[in-house]
Amino acid sequence: MFRLSTKLTSNKTLFSKTVKSVTTLNNITYNTTINNTSRAFSSKLFSSITQSSSTSKKLFGLISSTTLLLQVSNQNKDTLSLTEQSQQQRKMSSYSPSKIENVVIIGSGPAGHTAAVYTGRINIDLITILSYRRRRRRRRRRHYYRARLDPLMFEGFMAGGVAAGGQLTTTTEIENFPGFPGEISGPELMDRMREQSIKCGARIETKNIVKLDLSERPFKIYIEDEPEPIQSKSIILATGATAKKMGVPGEETYWSKGISACAVCDGALPIYRNKHLAVVGGGDTACEEATFLTHFASKVTMLVRRDEMRASKAMQQRVLTNPKIEIIWNHTLLSAQGGDKLTDLTIQNVLTKEEKKLEVGGLFYAIGHVPNTAFLNGQIETDETGYIITKGHSTETNVKGVFACGDVQDKIYRQAITAAGTGCMSALEAERFLSH
Ligand SMILES: Cc1cc2nc3c(=O)[nH]c(=O)nc-3n(C[C@H](O)[C@H](O)[C@H](O)COP(=O)(O)OP(=O)(O)OC[C@H]3O[C@@H](n4cnc5c(N)ncnc54)[C@H](O)[C@@H]3O)c2cc1C
Repeated sequence: MFRLSTKLTSNKTLFSKTVKSVTTLNNITYNTTINNTSRAFSSKLFSSITQSSSTSKKLFGLISSTTLLLQVSNQNKDTLSLTEQSQQQRKMSSYSPSKIENVVIIGSGPAGHTAAVYTGRINIDLITILSYRRRRRRRRRRHYYRARLDPLMFEGFMAGGVAAGGQLTTTTEIENFPGFPGEISGPELMDRMREQSIKCGARIETKNIVKLDLSERPFKIYIEDEPEPIQSKSIILATGATAKKMGVPGEETYWSKGISACAVCDGALPIYRNKHLAVVGGGDTACEEATFLTHFASKVTMLVRRDEMRASKAMQQRVLTNPKIEIIWNHTLLSAQGGDKLTDLTIQNVLTKEEKKLEVGGLFYAIGHVPNTAFLNGQIETDETGYIITKGHSTETNVKGVFACGDVQDKIYRQAITAAGTGCMSALEAERFLSH
């Protein structure tokens, strides 16, 4: 027999009624003591509860959606604080095919979480009821019911090869996100964003969206491994983009510890300062990244596969005339090696197959990104490289009620702060759309 302990910070009466109604279920006893419970024990308890009646599920829905702090205990007095219970919370669906959501956010990088924070805090006039006064003159009165947008986020599960939290989970220090003067790691920043989204009222599901049907409203959203789609009046697409990698030996070992896919983000970090850096790629981005890196590096070497670049003439001119940039033509990267730190690359001449070592303190990939838009199946207008096209200075797409923010619609800036900015725009635009 288990004992479930609760401490309530809001909604006391409703909660105690609910508790009473579930006390006899599945031989589970509920009381109000706070004790220590292990994660393992709590998982057991959660699965027992999720298998029980709809009332107890309701209780847990209530728990996860209010400011309730709940802890569980067994006779062994183990502990788990449910403020840290995202894993367990994720196991319980907060959606249903029969319910029509106001807004569903797909993606959980800075764009998705900013949209979740904003939509979570928004109250809108959802229902308008007309009533009439019968005395003297018939006068029409409007009653507005203010309701929360109650956003639902699908944070993904290794969608596009990236963990929930997005691209920043693949990097170490972030020096350029305002508000963190002492640096913060990418995973920690994303954990904090997630926590804030939940605090603001967002429901988060660790699932991938595999298909959308945007032919009519409410839109249909198909979740991986779920037979039936869910429905939503609006959708915010924040699925980001994935930096292309080369898959060479040493890449995973030195990723974020000598190898990066973002010069603007990482070029100024101490590990790259005053070092000889290499850039792989021959397009506009590669030229831009190489030029940017010259502000911090002692020297920059570009590895270009062919004897010419894809970059525009103007961009080529910039790198060719920069005394700090050297270009090695007709070469490709074979591997990256070193000890604790990256120290050198093995590169190969694609014409002669001759291999040589290149001593470097850092390597930057500039071989492109893949926007995570395949699941849209052509229903949202994209450019030739798959990036979503948004209208003017907005995040509106070609489908009314569908908004796109962050890297999935931005191939120019590709920064956490710009993604967050457009996430805010999407939330405000979705609110305006739902209110009218
Ligand atoms: C190595 C590296 C270092 C960086 N460093 C910095 C830095 O220091 N400062 C900075 O400002 N920027 C940095 N950036 C750039 C920054 O990470 C991005 O600009 C930012 O993360 C974009 O945010 P986003 O919300 O648009 O998307 P992303 O961060 O790409 O997140 C998108 C999320 O959506 C999920 N998703 C995708 N498809 C689906 C689906 N079908 N269903 C459900 N979920 C889905 C993905 O799993 C992912 O979690 C760095 C990028 C990289 C690669």
